[in-house]
Amino acid sequence: MAVALITGASQGIGACIAKRLAKDGFDVAINHYPSEDSEVKAKAVAEECRAFGVKAECFAADVSNYGQCEEMVKKIKAEMGSIEALINNAGITKDTLLARMKEEDYDAVIAVNQKSVYNMLKHVCPVMMKQKYGRIVNVSSVAGLYGNPGQVNYSASKAAIIGMTKTIAKEYGRKNITCNAVAPGFINTPMTDALSDEIKTKLLDAVALKRYGEPEEIASVVSFLVSDDSSYVTGQVIEISGGLSM
Ligand code: NAP
Repeated sequence: MAVALITGASQGIGACIAKRLAKDGFDVAINHYPSEDSEVKAKAVAEECRAFGVKAECFAADVSNYGQCEEMVKKIKAEMGSIEALINNAGITKDTLLARMKEEDYDAVIAVNQKSVYNMLKHVCPVMMKQKYGRIVNVSSVAGLYGNPGQVNYSASKAAIIGMTKTIAKEYGRKNITCNAVAPGFINTPMTDALSDEIKTKLLDAVALKRYGEPEEIASVVSFLVSDDSSYVTGQVIEISGGLSM
């Protein structure tokens, strides 16, 4: 059975991707932040994945930590046998205008959203190379494509992921490894719950479909990008934003 590893899969889009890929027939490795709360949530996600008749195991690691990613990938390889798909999904926000943004808030977002992708690629790409097969999907954002006031840290991290996606696609294409990115717009998750109603209404003005997206609508595109139906698609960024920019 092919194995999909999803980072930050204890809730939100990551949890939804894990369930969708389990439904598609993948065994799933569910990464969660090493805290009791995250572990409880991840275990519940694993339970839902197992209902599709696949293997689902939880693996704790702070993805901004290089050593923890290395250990996690070794464990997954030992316990699940292979890694055919990697979804770099874990992410955080620490929003405020540049004038007020503290250095630690800039660094924290870059570490979790961007450095984590390097950490995971470093350890998963050698596994995929040996298999002569791999599907990588990086979760970027419309903020990385167009910028967003109050998100200089977040938009920098998400734009960097796009550059990394294209580079990995070029470096690993000959090894039968594809690497693509998705750039979600405003999606209903705990991350966007934190926004005020005033900001939510304002944001919807620019969305052609006049509604927020659902995590399932990200998971379905990821499902395509890790399937054989997308075998000739690599280095691409697919915007999933209900027509935010046209
Ligand atoms: P979310 O509900 O806050 O979920 C983020 C996940 O990342 C959580 O499971 C969280 O774990 C995990 N995480 C955070 N730091 C981590 C770390 N250091 N190590 C391991 N896991 C960590 O957010 P979401 O909306 O589902 O976002 C998922 C991805 O989509 C993110 O990359 C986000 O930037 C991107 N995105 C979201 C939207 C949107 O509108 N929601 C739009 C564009 C892009 P715990 O909470 O358990 O600690």
